[in-house]
Amino acid sequence: MTANSRPISPPTLSVVIPCYNEGENVALLFARLMPALDALGVTFEVICINDGSKDNTLERLLEAQKGEGRLRIIDLSRNFGKEKALSAGLFHSLGQAVVPMDADLQHPPEAIADMLAKWREGFEVVFARRDARTGQSTSEKLFAKGFYWVFDHLSDVHLPREVGDFRLMDRKVVDTINSMPERSRFMKGIFAWVGYRQAAIVYTQGERAAGTTKFTPWKLLRFAFDGLTSFSNFPLRVWGGVGAVVSSLAFLYIVFRLIRTMIWGVDVPGYESILMSVLFLGGIQLLTLGIIGDYLGRVFDEVKGRPLFIVRQLYEPGGDKDA
Ligand code: UDP
Ligand code: MG
Repeated sequence: MTANSRPISPPTLSVVIPCYNEGENVALLFARLMPALDALGVTFEVICINDGSKDNTLERLLEAQKGEGRLRIIDLSRNFGKEKALSAGLFHSLGQAVVPMDADLQHPPEAIADMLAKWREGFEVVFARRDARTGQSTSEKLFAKGFYWVFDHLSDVHLPREVGDFRLMDRKVVDTINSMPERSRFMKGIFAWVGYRQAAIVYTQGERAAGTTKFTPWKLLRFAFDGLTSFSNFPLRVWGGVGAVVSSLAFLYIVFRLIRTMIWGVDVPGYESILMSVLFLGGIQLLTLGIIGDYLGRVFDEVKGRPLFIVRQLYEPGGDKDA
């Protein structure tokens, strides 16, 4: 692919923004983002990825591009989900430092100044930590807490708390991430896994400017499970242990029954114990199969080797360019 072959000198900063049905937010976003970036005094580009929006996001982005030489638009062929859209943006970014952020202004663009300062001190990753989980219900907070707890205990990667995708990454880090071939893009995990010298800044997360969250509870649950299974083999391995314990207990029970039968003879009752063990073991086997199936599905996805995302068209400031 020819992502990095544009004949201009690379800007210092790339801001990467995945957009899905964010038509209402585009004008608001640029009204605040551009002055904030101008104030930084560095060369920059903004890359917006239209993740198969069903509203007028693309038209709005194209309008914003008129007379704005620093906005690049990647139009994906359909909705690939935020993680893949972000990957597309990282892949096409040219900046020496890259900042992914949301289109809904929950990530204040003003915070980028602090990130740049840390980057200049020599840190390769500057993540932005929320000082409060604004705009989240108690159940969402509990879910997040539970997820982090499980993730930390099951995988070797430690996820920093209250940290989303809003961060600054050095070109080295972005190149590393771009070179990772895996199809399952749990970005939080990938960011943590690559390491590098890291620092944090603190920011206050705003309310969504317009529209509603693009994540349904089901999407979030799927996302959490994806994250777990792509960074830990524990759900796959634990059944070996469970199997060992259950079969040891079964063996002891068999010995006990044999001795009992030899001493006291056969007694017919035993319906409940048979039913219980059949149902219990059947349940465990189905569960295990389901988990193995999930990993197998993941292996299948990787083996197919399909592209992570499909670009319908790249809209460069000075004219269109096909992908
Ligand atoms: N997004 C996307 N594709 C999707 C879902 C979301 O590109 O399938 C983008 C969305 O447009 C926004 C960002 O991801 O810029 C974060 O989404 P949202 O604000 O809905 O998530 P929340 O802040 O509620 O976690
Ligand atoms: Mg949001």
